Amino acid sequence: MEVAYLINDRIFLEEERRVLEDQETSYNIIIKSIEDKYRVHSDKKAFTCICCKQAVSMVLRQDKFHFKHLGEGCPSSENYRQYTKQIKEEENEQPHRIGKTIIRTYLEGQLKIHNVEVQEGYSYRKSLKIIPDLIIYFPGGDIWVVDYITGKKQVEAYNSFIKKRKEVYENEGFKYFFFIDKAWLSSEHPNIKAVSLYPAENQMLIQLEQDQLWEVWIANLILKTDEEFLLNHLFGLERTFKEQLTLEVRSLLYVDPAEGTALVQRLVRLDSKWGLNIFRTEISLEKAASLDSAKNYFQWIDEDEETQRMKLEEDVIAAYRKFEKEQKDKIEQELSKEVYKKKLVNIDSNKVTSHYTHQSAKFTPQSNTTLSELFVKLQEQTIDIDEALVLYDYYKGSKIYKNRDELEEVRGLARTMMGPISNPNYLDRRLREILINLALL
Ligand SMILES: [Zn+2]
Repeated sequence: MEVAYLINDRIFLEEERRVLEDQETSYNIIIKSIEDKYRVHSDKKAFTCICCKQAVSMVLRQDKFHFKHLGEGCPSSENYRQYTKQIKEEENEQPHRIGKTIIRTYLEGQLKIHNVEVQEGYSYRKSLKIIPDLIIYFPGGDIWVVDYITGKKQVEAYNSFIKKRKEVYENEGFKYFFFIDKAWLSSEHPNIKAVSLYPAENQMLIQLEQDQLWEVWIANLILKTDEEFLLNHLFGLERTFKEQLTLEVRSLLYVDPAEGTALVQRLVRLDSKWGLNIFRTEISLEKAASLDSAKNYFQWIDEDEETQRMKLEEDVIAAYRKFEKEQKDKIEQELSKEVYKKKLVNIDSNKVTSHYTHQSAKFTPQSNTTLSELFVKLQEQTIDIDEALVLYDYYKGSKIYKNRDELEEVRGLARTMMGPISNPNYLDRRLREILINLALL
């Protein structure tokens, strides 16, 4: 393995070599420098295994600097072999090595105060089928594992590798976290606020406390507005997608180790390939490697997230009010168009009725009801609608109005009875027809 204890210090051989390489030190000088520094300690059996604490010796081979058990190996030697193979086969070896080292440094820095131990995953005291990059031992006995994901994302085999990885971790009772390389992050769909996901990525979604808060937030906003409006407003999503949505919010963390930054992406799961972007925020890698206040998860949260959520809620509600107003105006317009149409129909029907004047002329209402009396009866509902229609037709056909004032009064009363156009009173369809006609007399 690449790491061993020297008293309580961990010596990472490969990392020391790489630091020297970066300074453009020649291979011979690197060997000399490390030999000078550690050979005698190694000969005195001062290096011990991070897993079994047995003595290990330093081996400097051109392809790898490592420590080897003097006697029989322990689970970690087997884990290390497996890990080296796994990284070669599944990950993007070079960037993975660098990124993992940086992430480990951040974790060590942030978790020190909690008295936890951050170790190489292969140091686990039991051989595992899939080896985590890093393993975190908590004083209470909890074990978390962290993986830096740089793998062959588009390959289906990588998807099953992640699936197996999760199974191994779950069987061991590990809590696991994926730090996904930012190269995996997709930009948004051009029209819909959605990001595409690799199958493996879809498997790495995690539910954090903030995700639950966002879920509640969405559910409440649906009650305050309506689902179709909300999905359209938040995501530009058309009704056709609606059926598939369960409105579950999950998160992913993308990291850029070299920049020391991370990005929290919260998604509403759409299907296995797409997630709707509900919230995305950049945080420092330092923060992404810190524990939350309950020490249940890492702090994958924006400090301002609650405020931003409230602000967004206000925006959504304001937009909904505007939308409602527009809908109302539209109805109002349509109604006045309807009234206008009625007017035209009315003129037409006047012409039509003129053909039947000889018939209508024969008709005389039973009572001597005037126009305003007819209106009062309509209001008090003491007249049958059919009878009212006959009476109305009679008045219209005969054009017998008592006087201009009565006509004006009836028009006004009919309008009042119908209520404002934007918010009309609920009336029988035929009664409304009579009232419209009365209003247009
Ligand atoms: Zn050992």
